Amino acid sequence: MKPAPFEYVDPRTVDEALDHLHRHGEEAKVLAGGQSLAPMLNFRLARPAVLVDINRVAGLDGVTETNGALRVGTLVRQRHLERAIDGRFPLLAAGLKLIGHTAIRVRGTVGGSIAHADPAAELPALLACCDGVILTRGRRGERSIAAAEFFVGPLMTALAPDELVVETRWPLPAPGTGWGLHEVARRHGDFALVGAAALVALSDGQVRSARVAVFGCGATPTRAAAAEATLEGRVPTVALIDDAARAAASKLDPHADLHASAEYRRRVARTLMTRALSDAISRASGSAR
Ligand SMILES: Cc1cc2nc3c(=O)[nH]c(=O)nc-3n(C[C@H](O)[C@H](O)[C@H](O)COP(=O)(O)OP(=O)(O)OC[C@H]3O[C@@H](n4cnc5c(N)ncnc54)[C@H](O)[C@@H]3O)c2cc1C
Repeated sequence: MKPAPFEYVDPRTVDEALDHLHRHGEEAKVLAGGQSLAPMLNFRLARPAVLVDINRVAGLDGVTETNGALRVGTLVRQRHLERAIDGRFPLLAAGLKLIGHTAIRVRGTVGGSIAHADPAAELPALLACCDGVILTRGRRGERSIAAAEFFVGPLMTALAPDELVVETRWPLPAPGTGWGLHEVARRHGDFALVGAAALVALSDGQVRSARVAVFGCGATPTRAAAAEATLEGRVPTVALIDDAARAAASKLDPHADLHASAEYRRRVARTLMTRALSDAISRASGSAR
């Protein structure tokens, strides 16, 4: 199929883009990498009257490091970030490699994946796992929204129709933090059926902090608070990791679709949390030696 007719504008500044969004409200759609939007247009699942192409907007494609966080402009391509991280954030580097295929990551933007808010996508879950923040701009000014509050449902966010994501902020894990990331997909490059990410820091053999996020298992990426609470302050044995994953899996609200039942997703999420936590703990113990 071909897209329904639309007007196309390509602003050069954020303010110009915001003017278009303000003028057209729900009738407008932002175009970034187009890797999710273009198929939706072609299938007529999205029928915007106006497409606001932000690819020529200046100042949205930088990667910088400030106050212990990576600041990633919304237009930074996923492939570019993969290369720019250079060992500073192995969990994020591993997650980027799981997004589709190289050709998709060459066009797909970091901000586009966050704004699209697919519950099975890697970047929203990783941003939630590291307590990241989304910076938005609208005509009423800037907002800084914690990832935990940004994702509100499948393909739904706290973004107003006349706001743009301009940047995402990724707090860098403290040195010695271990990480783990596992997902199950039918084929390499497919969206995950279920995935789990973990960041763990140890101190004197005990878990100082544990952060776990699950994706593809419910309406939004989910922080596994029960797993984190089970582990923190304790010596991480195999049995404790299993308890943590079981406790968190029982609190998930998985969805069912033609790919998998809700119960399958819950069981896989438990296994993947166990694996991600085990990897994170073993990496943290390795760097503590
Ligand atoms: C075959 C295939 C496989 C894929 N596999 C995966 C995968 O395994 N994991 C994964 O995570 N993704 C996957 N993707 C999606 C890909 O990562 C997309 O790049 C990403 O979801 C959207 O980024 P984009 O820059 O292409 O955004 P676009 O497609 O341009 O936009 C997506 C949505 O976000 C909105 N938007 C974009 N930027 C902004 C902004 N700055 N402010 C406000 N709204 C904005 C758009 O209006 C639109 O609604 C796959 C895509 C394809 C085609």
